[in-house]
Amino acid sequence: MPRKEIIKDVRRIVVKVGSSSVTEQGVLSGKKISGIVSDVAGLVKRGYQVVLVTSGAISTGAGLMKKNVRNLTIPEKQAYAAVGQTILMNEYRNRFNSKGLHVGQILLTEDDVKNRTRFLNARHTLEALIALRIIPIVNENDSVAVNEIKFGDNDMLSAHVACLIDADLLILLSDIDGFYMDMADPEPVDEIHAISNGIIERAGGAGSDYGTGGMLSKIRAAEIIIRFGEKMIIASAKKKNALNRIMDGEKIGTIFIGKDRPLTGKKRWLVLRKPAGVLVLDKGAVDAIRIGKKSLLASGIAGIEGNFVMGDVIEMTGTDGIKIGKGIVNYSSQELHQIKGKKSAEIRKILGDNIFDEVINRDELLAY
Ligand code: GLU
Repeated sequence: MPRKEIIKDVRRIVVKVGSSSVTEQGVLSGKKISGIVSDVAGLVKRGYQVVLVTSGAISTGAGLMKKNVRNLTIPEKQAYAAVGQTILMNEYRNRFNSKGLHVGQILLTEDDVKNRTRFLNARHTLEALIALRIIPIVNENDSVAVNEIKFGDNDMLSAHVACLIDADLLILLSDIDGFYMDMADPEPVDEIHAISNGIIERAGGAGSDYGTGGMLSKIRAAEIIIRFGEKMIIASAKKKNALNRIMDGEKIGTIFIGKDRPLTGKKRWLVLRKPAGVLVLDKGAVDAIRIGKKSLLASGIAGIEGNFVMGDVIEMTGTDGIKIGKGIVNYSSQELHQIKGKKSAEIRKILGDNIFDEVINRDELLAY
């Protein structure tokens, strides 16, 4: 399908730029940032709503202090991120200001979006900035984030930001042209509709030409965006005006395309949550959820894995191990061990009158 057709309904775009696209040999590059800012400002002028996710805080801070990022301890990285983030923002602010645009900084950790209420708070801030025509510039809050609360990389962060603002398109700009199934190919793959095991292998598995991290984290982000039912493009920041050319319909980089009907609200948020446990469902429950679009009842649960409490996100599988979906549970794993396979009357006998009819309500459930 022509790109123009694929992107015709796009209004909201998250643009993510990698460290190498804003720095030159470890030092912040005014020239590179200027190129990105002009390109983003062009999109805004055309009426698109844009949120920018930028890397480069750690490398800029380390570069200023003449340190090599590779040799830093975690606290040193956190310290240099604190230094570099202000330099990075200063550069963006000055350049966006000269285009007549204001910017606002948002620093996030995964902890800030794991809890649904905090997620909504972050969403409201971003929505307010967009409504005020201020460009939100997002990075991971590297100075305070330790492994347990980290997104891990800005590709994953940008998928979360795409969820926060219900973006129609995520564009990942880096030094890679797109996704190549074979590095000997003259052009990257044009369109991808599903992430196969072959693609994951190629991106980061044994024998991958992409090395570690880089492409695999982009493919992981693409998996999420496809699940949302939205679109993502991997393109090179080296191409002049790449963003505007993409929105003109030019075939640049690789586009990942989700299914027709995008998920909304809580269902998108569920895609991003790491499950605290697994519920194994019998065939009747699998059909009720997949075909009947029903809630999950205790009578359909055949097995429980992991320890979780009421309100946690869990994954559901069939007895064959195939993933069915995710949802927020009304019962703890301990309670479920007592009531699995049972009907309401029996459940009442075991847990008393104060019970929920459903283990997972349909509104809190995402079926794959
Ligand atoms: N948040 C990091 C930084 O700004 C970059 C992480 C990444 O690029 O994945 O330095």
